[in-house]
Amino acid sequence: MSDLIQLLPDAIANQIAAGEVVQRPSSALKELLENAIDAGATKVQVIVKEAGKQLIQVIDNGKGMSATDARMSFERHATSKIRTSQDLFSIRTFGFRGEALASIAAVAQVELKTRRNADELGTLIHIEGSEVKKQEPVATTPGTSVSMKNLFFNVPARRNFLKSNPVEMRHIVEEFQRVALAYSEIGFSLMQNDMEIYNLHPGKLSQRIVGIFGKNYQTQLVPCEELTPHVNVKGYIGKPESAKKTRGEQFFFVNNRYIKSSYLNHAVSNAFENLIQPDQHPFYVLFLEIDPSHIDINVHPTKTEIKFDDERTVYAVIRAAVKQALGAHHVVPALDFSVDVNFEDNWSSDAQKKADVDREYSYKTFNTPEFKKSSASGWERLFEGNQTFIQEQKRPVSEEGDDSEVLTFSSKANPEEESSSFPKPAEGEGTGTTFQVELSYIVAQMSTGLLILDQQAAHERILYERYLRQLKLAQGPSQQCLFPPVVQLNPSDYELVVGLMGELHSLGFMISEFGNNAVLVQGVPADIQVKNEKELFEGLIEQFKNFKNELSLDNRENLARSLARKSSLKKGQKLNSQEMETLVGQLFACQNPNYGLGGNKTFVKLDLSSIHSFFGKSHV
Ligand code: ADP
Ligand code: MG
Repeated sequence: MSDLIQLLPDAIANQIAAGEVVQRPSSALKELLENAIDAGATKVQVIVKEAGKQLIQVIDNGKGMSATDARMSFERHATSKIRTSQDLFSIRTFGFRGEALASIAAVAQVELKTRRNADELGTLIHIEGSEVKKQEPVATTPGTSVSMKNLFFNVPARRNFLKSNPVEMRHIVEEFQRVALAYSEIGFSLMQNDMEIYNLHPGKLSQRIVGIFGKNYQTQLVPCEELTPHVNVKGYIGKPESAKKTRGEQFFFVNNRYIKSSYLNHAVSNAFENLIQPDQHPFYVLFLEIDPSHIDINVHPTKTEIKFDDERTVYAVIRAAVKQALGAHHVVPALDFSVDVNFEDNWSSDAQKKADVDREYSYKTFNTPEFKKSSASGWERLFEGNQTFIQEQKRPVSEEGDDSEVLTFSSKANPEEESSSFPKPAEGEGTGTTFQVELSYIVAQMSTGLLILDQQAAHERILYERYLRQLKLAQGPSQQCLFPPVVQLNPSDYELVVGLMGELHSLGFMISEFGNNAVLVQGVPADIQVKNEKELFEGLIEQFKNFKNELSLDNRENLARSLARKSSLKKGQKLNSQEMETLVGQLFACQNPNYGLGGNKTFVKLDLSSIHSFFGKSHV
């Protein structure tokens, strides 16, 4: 008997491959758009007829092809984009498989016109079911035009499988939007059955978003940016009020490639928690930049999934970026609030002009004369060094004259009322305008309304930023232990502590090895009120290990967090007015006062306008 195995003819092999690459008109559009972008086009026109079943044409002004390349481009595994397997790990172009044109030509009637700028004549190729019908020189403009006609003309089963025109068109528009969003610097147009659907001019991302989704997005976009050594996140999120009941306007791009990821989507939703209803979906267009060696995009050609080697870090960075964006723009929810307080008539009526500006809080803090006079309590020691801390943050602090006793955080919205609109905090506990609720929240008055702080979250934020600074400057002040405790550790914790010696020292811990997996704690950070140094140190290591399991943080950040968590004020702790004022002042001297360590809010703001609206007065 003769042998049975034969190589498939190219046309059949291509048709099989096409089953993977071209599932529906929109997947062909994706490939053609990506080729245009890879060719360096600055203008791309898309013409669609009958939802792409009759025609998809993509015309670009990119670099074009020579006659030989034009013919070659339809061969399977013919690509100009990678040459070695090593190139696979540094892919920056969209295509690289050299499969798209071959697949499309296997299942449709394709007309290619292409010309390089330097050539006088271009090339025209007709190809149908992988068979070249015509190739000839042609007069044409520089760039490339690919028309794909009658998709699946030779595979009736698949043609019948296509959905209705509205459904296929929806897929086409979605595909077009994704590419257009990723390349706002390129002009794109989309025509369907001779009607213009989009004509997008080159511009900034925000303009592109508005161009695609409509003018009402103009006021809804909040910029979002977080740059870390591992991954950068940039883009826009929608304000909570623009969230929709239907999912959809949510876009992640990794190195400009659209991806779907329910895991990363969760990171965004999580950051929006409590700001939108559970059944609502926030708008976002976020671009992640990451070293290609940390991701695997060599997955299925039409799939939009991606693998990161460190997904948790990416998650954490996205979540932080979105939280930060929401916080930095004071997108805090309107809150229900009722408390039995006699509001004095000390609001100035123009105090409510603008509430929308970063750090508009003007506040008298610990540094007022009353505070200076009072004796140094344990609490004040907790905040020692605070003054220099704030000055180094470059907040405007006047050194001379009357103002010297008043530390204000400048108000961009109402600079003139900084020192006038605040009643002086009264001396003594709880008799001023700042008071505690449930020994957990601090209610404070400011020029544009009320602030309600979560005392523990706020203090953790303050300490965290301070410890981070100390770690950076390696100069945390230390207090000597009267009776230096010996802390016995297990071998792995001992290794951990030895590895962290430098950082611990920077924070103000004085620790020496004591032999046999034990350490001697001779000093602890000066600003911590310690009853039991051993407990503090052991608790810190325990907290460090917990955070290490939960989050992927670097050692310094983890240490700063752990120590902040360990040494912060807790709920249920009674505070006097000075302590409360100090806490508020210090919180707003932070670089990012909006969120605590767990990502929960440190404060909410009740604007005057909201208070007025409780009583049906929209304008006063
Ligand atoms: P891939 O994009 O994976 O390389 P394709 O089958 O999509 O594979 O394209 C094959 C080759 O044809 C590309 O590598 C490129 O050199 C060339 N090509 C395709 N489309 C264009 C275009 N619009 N402009 C210039 N060259 C193109
Ligand atoms: Mg391609």
